[in-house]
Amino acid sequence: MPASCCGRCGGEGFEVVEGRPAGAHFRIALVQCASCGAVVGAMPAVNVEDQLRQMDRKLQTMDYSIQHIASRR
Ligand SMILES: [Zn+2]
Repeated sequence: MPASCCGRCGGEGFEVVEGRPAGAHFRIALVQCASCGAVVGAMPAVNVEDQLRQMDRKLQTMDYSIQHIASRR
């Protein structure tokens, strides 16, 4: 498989940097060429799946606590 390369300079190294679009209240992660900085992709800066997992763990802990309290009655 050929290596991915930058369409501007031909560089083959990429990096992720955080950006904030003008006027936006959220951040995005920009994939850019490590040599010239040309942006080749963008994605949400926040990993929604990871946040959902953390929320699920917290809900499970709260549910356990509520059941524990209810069983005392
Ligand atoms: Zn480049």
